[in-house]
Amino acid sequence: MSRPILPGATVGVLGSGQLGRMFAIAARRMGYRVHTFSPGDDTPMGQVADREAVGDYSDLAAVAEFASRVDVVTFEFENVPHEAALAAAEYVPVRPDGRVLHIAQHRQREKDFLADAGFPTAPFEHVPDRAALGAAVERLGTPCVLKTAGFGYDGKGQAVIRNSAEIDQAWQSIGAGEAVLEGFIDFEREISVVAARGCDGAFAHFGVTENRHADHILDVSIPDPDLDPAIVERAVEIAHGVLDALDVVGVLCVEFFLCRDGSLLINELAPRPHNSGHFSFDACITSQFEQQLRAVCALPLGDTQRLRPSAMVNLLGDLWEQGMPDWRAALADPALKLHLYGKSEARPGRKMGHMVAFDDDGEQAARRAIAARDALLRR
Ligand code: AMP
Repeated sequence: MSRPILPGATVGVLGSGQLGRMFAIAARRMGYRVHTFSPGDDTPMGQVADREAVGDYSDLAAVAEFASRVDVVTFEFENVPHEAALAAAEYVPVRPDGRVLHIAQHRQREKDFLADAGFPTAPFEHVPDRAALGAAVERLGTPCVLKTAGFGYDGKGQAVIRNSAEIDQAWQSIGAGEAVLEGFIDFEREISVVAARGCDGAFAHFGVTENRHADHILDVSIPDPDLDPAIVERAVEIAHGVLDALDVVGVLCVEFFLCRDGSLLINELAPRPHNSGHFSFDACITSQFEQQLRAVCALPLGDTQRLRPSAMVNLLGDLWEQGMPDWRAALADPALKLHLYGKSEARPGRKMGHMVAFDDDGEQAARRAIAARDALLRR
């Protein structure tokens, strides 16, 4: 039985973006202190943390010094070197364990883990170098999708190959490095399950969320979409299996393709709170951020029940192109919840914030959230 880490203790987070910011807000509300470690300063999480430590993840002495001043370490960013997790683990529990990071930060390792454990994925081939790519494309057929093995997110580092004439260009465009080739899935929709597992193996999930993307970046998330209950049950069952198989302590998101025949394929794992779970901050008894805190502090997991049907829209930097968005216009909807991450520079495609709207069902809430976002630009 793990010793509970109680309010008043200090939680250390590797990473300092918006996920850490919302984690810190949830943790401070419950009386914890929070420290963040990342290479940046005045970061989204640093702005609301008790301490913002600035250092490189590969500076293991700095990571060790950070860990020596907290009671437990967790992550909000999975591309932290494995060695940093090991260095922190010399001082305090690291949750989830560095092994989870090691698997989830590398597509080939993640795919191998999923396939070996019998979880469904798109067909894939390992592409260690350019020489291996031609044969891999032949085996999988076109269209197929080439993805960098490491450090990819939001569709960065990936290219669709439609025919063999596109192979070279695709290889160059992902940076000509180790990659994974996947069969192109003509999915019906994309869904995800955000779930948590406690130190004692307890499991709690946030149900299924439908995710609509624009330019490979999450645009709209709708919890509890109108789906065959058998598909929902299967998605949750797979997620439960993944968290158990990885022995996760914390929150993990499983992203799926829902195929036209009703089958589910795992696209990716994210071993942390996820953009598709942001709705929970405003719409559930326990948010994904509080759940992460409860899990890593060996506390009982919270109830994920919805307070109201909701939907979330992301706010990307593109909205700032003509100047500051009109917040007052969006907030004319009195039930709208606005989240801004404190990023000073708005670049196209950069996640600057999100909004959650409520209504009688998820689709209506999505329409309301989109209308509020449209209003930001109606000057
Ligand atoms: P990823 O960064 O792997 O999550 O990919 C970003 C987005 O690209 C996904 O959410 C899908 O919309 C699309 N995508 C990725 N892999 C595939 C695939 N194998 N087949 C079809 N679409 C894909």
